[in-house]
Amino acid sequence: MMRTLFLNPPSFEGFDGGAGSRYQAKREIRSFWYPTWLAQPAALVPHSKLVDAPARDMSIGDVLPMVGDYELAVLHTSTPSFPHDAKVAEALKAANPKLKLGFVGAHVAVQPEQSLKASTSIDFVARAEFDFTIREVAEGRPFEDIDGLSYRANGQIVHNRERAILHDMDRLPHVVDVYRRDLVIEDYFIGYLQHPYLSIYTGRGCKSRCTFCLWPQTIGGHTYRTRSPGHVVEEMRRAREYFPQVKEFFFDDDTFTDHPKRAEEIARGMGKLGVPWSCNAKANVPYETLKALRDNGLRLFVVGYESGNHRILINIKKGVRLDRARQFTEDCHKLGIQIHGTFVVGLPGETQETIEETIRFAQEMNPHTIQVSLAATYPGTFLYNQALENGWLRRDSEDLVAASGASGAQVAALDYPHLSHEEIFDAVWEFYRRFYFRPRKLLEMTGEMFTSPNMFKRRVREGAEFFRFMMSRENRGEAPPTTVATGQSAENARARAHG
Ligand code: SF4
Repeated sequence: MMRTLFLNPPSFEGFDGGAGSRYQAKREIRSFWYPTWLAQPAALVPHSKLVDAPARDMSIGDVLPMVGDYELAVLHTSTPSFPHDAKVAEALKAANPKLKLGFVGAHVAVQPEQSLKASTSIDFVARAEFDFTIREVAEGRPFEDIDGLSYRANGQIVHNRERAILHDMDRLPHVVDVYRRDLVIEDYFIGYLQHPYLSIYTGRGCKSRCTFCLWPQTIGGHTYRTRSPGHVVEEMRRAREYFPQVKEFFFDDDTFTDHPKRAEEIARGMGKLGVPWSCNAKANVPYETLKALRDNGLRLFVVGYESGNHRILINIKKGVRLDRARQFTEDCHKLGIQIHGTFVVGLPGETQETIEETIRFAQEMNPHTIQVSLAATYPGTFLYNQALENGWLRRDSEDLVAASGASGAQVAALDYPHLSHEEIFDAVWEFYRRFYFRPRKLLEMTGEMFTSPNMFKRRVREGAEFFRFMMSRENRGEAPPTTVATGQSAENARARAHG
């Protein structure tokens, strides 16, 4: 096996765009997802090393001295970070010209040719589901024999045939061993999860077809392929043994509740372990399943409501009606399951009236916390193609994040004839303000601060950051907070996946 470095490259300061973040942007409250997509191949390559530079606050200067120790480097990239990641690749190659260097991630899976043309420092791209592709590269197999690989040969770019989709998900080794070996779990924060948290995937893919959602349309596919409950629970048992300090486990599958009976079986295993856990869900889980999950330690759902307008839900192929979402929310409130609700402004069909409807819907649903995101157009998604065809992409910038000022923070990418990108951008602030600055919500949040000294400190810090950003709303160089005072990460949202 080649000596292999798996690297989430250094990026914009505080940029959460690594191998576990569906929505790649800098959050205004420190927020990082686990680099699980890199930990999975790392677990298949003995003696490899996983370095998560943004979460460790590592600069390129910190990474370069280690690169001489490796023969192969695998970098995870994303659409917003790709230009910067290519520069990191060039610096690594300059420091170690013998290094073989490849990129993985949704962006290069969709645009392998353009990615290889962007920099001669990138030797190969492992497309789509890349775990076993990377293992074969690390084994030193000839590139022409490796499915799913794109690379340069004799001055030409060659694309090998697709790798067969993985169906036996239990073939993926546990990632918690890599977490224990290479990560500092206290580096990982998500505002709505207890700290420290730990997340894994128990399956890949989502059967829904939301037009903006990145992973199912690029890597995971539309069949929910799952690990067996025993395989998952065993990994959780080991995670608890390795990391007794973890306060909450998170199943970051696109939609963990897509297979309710399996979710219940895993929940029973978690119940026996006696650890609190949370997951992504769609707003259509039956009451009996909700109860079974709650009775076995479920604390919180991350739920993608997206919009309070029926027509927009149809436009984006959400597959959940407003009345079903209402019933689901009522059931969760009754059972004491907390909800982090996610909403998007600027989706096709959006008007000032539909924004108003969605704000009122969010107030009515009253999730514990919310996140409001700008619709993001990632290459490889239906929304991206739709925006191109209809001329909705902004003419002045194709970027998804700001390159200067609050670099790495989200920007409004869409601009409609009847609704400008400025109006969409401003709507995020208005949404947060009207959701959180209600007497009922303020009372709830204030009450929560006094539940523990740690919660008090955390909310004060996050609150200060939120106010700072609310005050800076006039500065259009800065994006709205992708995390808010109550600790909501704008994570998991758009382009994201889950419920
Ligand atoms: S937004 Fe959620 S439900 Fe829709 S495709 Fe993505 S993961 Fe599935």
